[in-house]
Amino acid sequence: MARLNSHYLKLKAGYLFPEINRRVKAFLDTDPEGAARLIRCGIGDVTEPLPASVRRAMHAAVEEMGARESFRGYGPEQGYEFLREAIAANDYRAHGIEISNEEIFVSDGSKCDCGNILDIFGSDNRIAVMDPVYPVYVDTNVMAGHTGEGDASGLYDGLLYLACTAENGFVPAVPKEKVDLVYLCYPNNPTGATATRSQLTAWVDYALKNDAVLLFDAAYEAYIRDPEIPRSIYEIPGARKCAIEFRSFSKNGGFTGVRCAFTVVPKELECSTASGERRPLHPLWNRRFSTKFNGVSYVTQRAAEALYSEEGRAEVAELIHHYMGNAEILVAAAKGCGLPTFGGTNAPYIWVHGPKGLTSWEIFDTVLKKANVVVTPGSGFGPAGEGYFRISSFNSRANVETVAARLRALGW
Ligand SMILES: *Cc1c(COP(=O)(O)O)cnc(C)c1O
Repeated sequence: MARLNSHYLKLKAGYLFPEINRRVKAFLDTDPEGAARLIRCGIGDVTEPLPASVRRAMHAAVEEMGARESFRGYGPEQGYEFLREAIAANDYRAHGIEISNEEIFVSDGSKCDCGNILDIFGSDNRIAVMDPVYPVYVDTNVMAGHTGEGDASGLYDGLLYLACTAENGFVPAVPKEKVDLVYLCYPNNPTGATATRSQLTAWVDYALKNDAVLLFDAAYEAYIRDPEIPRSIYEIPGARKCAIEFRSFSKNGGFTGVRCAFTVVPKELECSTASGERRPLHPLWNRRFSTKFNGVSYVTQRAAEALYSEEGRAEVAELIHHYMGNAEILVAAAKGCGLPTFGGTNAPYIWVHGPKGLTSWEIFDTVLKKANVVVTPGSGFGPAGEGYFRISSFNSRANVETVAARLRALGW
């Protein structure tokens, strides 16, 4: 009989969002009118429509595809030169960061990239993640057989978890022990924390000293408003030798449904072969891309390019301004309840400690039943999230104002 990949059987069957949906459905079954009042501040998906510059670029690209002379079939797997150039020039070189076009790999999403990157690493690396954590980093390692079994709280044997707590500002220090791969996500999902230049410098120094690779997820880079906070790991000297950066158009351009992202693999980044020789990773990722991927659609790449136009940039700024305005309202409401409140100043997520003694799921149930608002229980991202809940600012202003009023009315 054909064998399945038994590592999949270790996965905690996507416990978080299915469980949220189950509880929401159970609530609506007992309170049918709740459906009209229900506001979802749970899932990290954008809500505002696509910018006009993007839609125009997509329409024009569709017309090009409709004429024999301008029709395009397969493009370069790594992305069209026009988009790689726009990315490298605007996101990096304009900020004095040396990244070449060939170091940019255009894809259909950062979630895929974060998972696929494991293809080019060996199976015996020691891996560190944060707790709480974006579940993709953990689950893809479980699927690849890089972990042992998971325990009841969702922690897997074989991974090093670095606890993010109020005491460390949700930015854990580098570990004392040596690891080979480290997942970093700043601004962070779910805590909304950002890392300072000196904190990121400590990670780069650690990676260089230990020959480790940093997998830096910068999906929320556009939400950074404080000019002192680095937007890219490559702002840190030495990062070209030890870091891969993931970026996405999902949260800045509202591309969660359009699908476009990119990964930066610097040519200087090297890893060890089984026999201890140093070899660059860039050719491996390039080979992986051209073997397993046929590129992002031309129409989508033109859409992404439009985000770098003058109009596109203004529209992205407007979207961020909208969501961060929401964040300000939600932060004020949570603080107004007297609850310890974090994030929401350089990130679209607000991380709130609930009233003492309540678990994350108890908070979730109370907010659902009394305020008819869906939040995300912090413990769903890892045991260090216990007692916390996450509010997302991805919503309309009207919904956010209603949520703020209802949170205050909880009387916490
Ligand atoms: C939303 C998000 C992404 C982006 O994923 P896409 O697949 O590009 O939509 C990446 N990382 C984190 C932590 C996210 O929350």
